Amino acid sequence: MADDIQKLPKIRPYHRLSYKLLRWVLMTALMAGGVLSMVQIFLDASRAAIEMDDQAQQILAVMRDPAAQAIYSIDPELANQVVDGLFQQRAIIQASIYHPDGSYLSHRTRPLRSAPYRPLTDPIFQEQRSYEIPLTRNQQVYGGLRITLDTAETAEIFLERSLLIFISGLLKAFILSLIVYAVYYYLLTAPLMGIIRSLLKVDPASPAQKKIPMPKWHQKDELGLWVQIANQLLQSIEDNQQQRLAAEARVLKMSQYDALTGLPNRALFRSHLQSALEDAKRLHQKAALLWIGIDDFKSINDQYSYAIGDQLLQAIAERLTEHSEVFHTLCRLSGDQFAILQYNIGTPYRAAKFADSLLRSLHSPFFIEHRRFQLQATIGIALFPDDDVDADRLLQKAEQTMMLAKNTHRNQFTFYVASIDSELRQRKQMEKDLAGAIENNQFQLAYQPQIDMRTGKVIGAEALLRWQHPSRGNIPPDVFIPIAEANDSIRDIGAWVINQACRQLHQWQQEGLDLHIAVNLSANQLRQRNIVDIIRKAIQDNQLQPHQLELEITETSFMENLSEAVETLRDLREFGVRCAVDDFGTGYSSLSYLKQLPIDKIKIDRQFILDLESGDNDTSIVSAIIQLGRSLKLGVIAEGVETEEQKNYLLANGCTEAQGYFYSKPLTTDEFRKFYHRHKPAA
Ligand code: C2E
Ligand code: CA
Ligand code: CA
Repeated sequence: MADDIQKLPKIRPYHRLSYKLLRWVLMTALMAGGVLSMVQIFLDASRAAIEMDDQAQQILAVMRDPAAQAIYSIDPELANQVVDGLFQQRAIIQASIYHPDGSYLSHRTRPLRSAPYRPLTDPIFQEQRSYEIPLTRNQQVYGGLRITLDTAETAEIFLERSLLIFISGLLKAFILSLIVYAVYYYLLTAPLMGIIRSLLKVDPASPAQKKIPMPKWHQKDELGLWVQIANQLLQSIEDNQQQRLAAEARVLKMSQYDALTGLPNRALFRSHLQSALEDAKRLHQKAALLWIGIDDFKSINDQYSYAIGDQLLQAIAERLTEHSEVFHTLCRLSGDQFAILQYNIGTPYRAAKFADSLLRSLHSPFFIEHRRFQLQATIGIALFPDDDVDADRLLQKAEQTMMLAKNTHRNQFTFYVASIDSELRQRKQMEKDLAGAIENNQFQLAYQPQIDMRTGKVIGAEALLRWQHPSRGNIPPDVFIPIAEANDSIRDIGAWVINQACRQLHQWQQEGLDLHIAVNLSANQLRQRNIVDIIRKAIQDNQLQPHQLELEITETSFMENLSEAVETLRDLREFGVRCAVDDFGTGYSSLSYLKQLPIDKIKIDRQFILDLESGDNDTSIVSAIIQLGRSLKLGVIAEGVETEEQKNYLLANGCTEAQGYFYSKPLTTDEFRKFYHRHKPAA
């Protein structure tokens, strides 16, 4: 789900919490600062005014005595001195000493100072302020002293101070907001963003997998609590989800599997079947659908109990399961009916073999509650794609086949298509017949001469198996040998061939024939563990030299299990037996393989010799094979030589040994003996 992790959405700075808070704090702090400063300024103003008044009163108090002396003695000189003294104060713009009638003894004025801030401060302090005191002597008033102050100077100082107060107020507010902003950011915004980031990483499918980490230093505050509760919530969501999934899975299992045996039920099997058939179609593979009906199961239920019937069905399911490999799907269709889909069967024979093994397995006894049950079943087989390509119709056909077969022959398998059925029955029959062929002396060997083309002399014989079937006559080895290979009976048959060929060679040797004998060895025999012993014994029993026996093995047989084959051949060659690669050129024919193989000879395949006539393409193949054999110091023999031209070509290209109808067909022993003597070069 990593792809689903969302990116952190961008929040515009303007919208961030910390910025909002900053704005608010700044605004209110500024406002509060402003108001507070204003109050302070206001108080300051009245204090300044009072100070101004006090100062004036002080001045007046200081000048009272000299002024009183001047007016008492009506001394203008002294009065002027007092007034001039007063004018030393820059703030004083008018000073006068006057008589009680208002006439001046001394009077002096100067203009108001002009200043730009006057309109602002004059309303507070007035333009000017006047003070006077009576001048007395001996409790008698002789006149008065009056001064007028210009407020500008005090106002200027006041203004400077106010500005300072105001600015420092604002500055304080600003610094305070910044501190609040930082604290808020580190305490709240940053951890919140961290939480949001971890929330984004939460996988909705398993929310508790990635818990939200506890922000540092917040374990015990509201944030910590928030994270704790959110994590608990995620955990319970996950638990809940898992419970739901488990419940769904249970329901699904119940709806797809048979409760008694635990096998897939018909619905699930059908969907498996459909997808398997699609795969098979894509891969061009064949598949077989086997419908298995247990014979007379009803009578078991009737005779015993349903409980026993159920146990038996479970045991049957178990036994069938043992048989179904990776390439099978097994299900219980209903009551006593099961089905198996066998994938990639290659040939129908595989299905037949499998059905046969199922029948045998079901037939071996079951023990339920100390009772012994031996079952029989009937199997209907429908093939994909031969019988049908549609899953439902294939099921139907398999069932039909099983039902029909139940009426006629039980304990058997039957194919939907009769031709396959009869072919397989024949094959089965042949298997049976093959099993008795040795005892019934139905096998014979034919011998095809191998010739040295330079002299025409017979140098060897290939033993070729012949089967005289009591009812079907001569059956060609191409037909029965693959069957014998498939069911391993080739091992006994092959051993018979080896013994028979060796015995024959021994007899010919006694009669003075000088030759070797070639015997075909199949891939199956090459895998046989005691093959070396069998061959060694045959040679010793018949007092032959090991090099007189040549084994013909096809390339494909080697390749089926290279290392094992090489080992067997090494043992044989150590003993002295010779090995030839049969049908050379039709298999892998890789030079690198050839070098590794412990062999003595290659046998050019019949097809290349046949094609020699048709064009020069194969002529070059044949000469190349001959060259290859020579360069690896291997003997080369050509098989299937039928014409003089072929013989001449081979000789011209350095191949001296041959076998084929041009010289002789495979012969009986008597015929062979005669052929040998007829072709003895004149000594
Ligand atoms: P193979 O080993 O290639 O045997 C040669 C086959 O070519 C023989 O057929 C032989 O009759 C046939 N043949 C010989 N010369 C000519 C010719 O000039 N022209 C043509 N068209 N055919 C020729 P056969 O006897 O029917 O054997 C067929 C195959 O059966 C053999 O092919 C071999 O693979 C297998 N086989 C025969 N006997 C045995 C045996 O005892 N054991 C095993 N494992 N396989 C055997
Ligand atoms: Ca051969
Ligand atoms: Ca051959």
